[in-house]
Amino acid sequence: MSLIKTQPSGGGYLLLDHRNCDDVPAGLPRIFEADTYTCTHCSGVVVMNPARTRERYKCRGCSHHICDSCAAQRVAGGPCRTVMQQADELMAAAERQARAETSLILP
Ligand SMILES: [Zn+2]
Ligand SMILES: [Zn+2]
Repeated sequence: MSLIKTQPSGGGYLLLDHRNCDDVPAGLPRIFEADTYTCTHCSGVVVMNPARTRERYKCRGCSHHICDSCAAQRVAGGPCRTVMQQADELMAAAERQARAETSLILP
């Protein structure tokens, strides 16, 4: 069961099974199951708490569900920057840097 009406892409599944473990700390369930999804902004994996009632934030920039900390940045006016965009920018900057270095004329 999911609280999100449209299932986020990059979804996965988490199963913690302690049924064969003798020493489970008090208060922890023997078996825990939850759906997961990957935040497109930080690539963090979000475990969807089955007891959560708050709505998950869907970024209008990339049309994907993002994690709570990235959602807080978006709500505060931050831009939509997916982890792939960040990687592209990093690679482009490294390429410019390399080109600048090779064009140096050394004595
Ligand atoms: Zn995130
Ligand atoms: Zn986004």
